[in-house]
Amino acid sequence: MATISKTMQDAFNEQIKNEMYSAYLYLSMSAWFESQDLPGFAHWMRAQFIEEETHALKMLDFVVDRNGVVTLLPISQPTLAFESALDVFQKTFAHEQTVTSLIHKLYATAEQEKDYTSMMFLKWFIDEQVEEEKNADLLVEQLKAIGQMRGLLIMLDGHMDERKATLSV
Ligand code: MG
Repeated sequence: MATISKTMQDAFNEQIKNEMYSAYLYLSMSAWFESQDLPGFAHWMRAQFIEEETHALKMLDFVVDRNGVVTLLPISQPTLAFESALDVFQKTFAHEQTVTSLIHKLYATAEQEKDYTSMMFLKWFIDEQVEEEKNADLLVEQLKAIGQMRGLLIMLDGHMDERKATLSV
């Protein structure tokens, strides 16, 4: 397989950092849920953390496989304070919409570079973003319906720990 272009290599390094930031953000959310005595939500966010690390690794392996140089860029500090479970999932939904636009931008760069291999590779991430946004949006709606009813929140928390991280590397 031909060596990856410098432009694509740099763009992938940037997105590896973005995926690691997502992991960091969800780990922060997981710790916050622990502090709120909501272990099911904390578990769900920990699974999300692992999935984001998997996304970063998938991209890292791709760069390496194409003889590119991986540069690990600094990860920003994520938000640490949240107002409610609803606030967490509204932030999650907004974050995933941002990630979708970043993935689309990366795809557009691959298209400009006529890097068909990267375009094929990125298809998986484009599909994955549909899932990410759908999951977050569903929880926003469920949490809106629950409102201030702590008992219902605890009941939903009991179902949240059913999630297993999907590891695709
Ligand atoms: Mg991701």
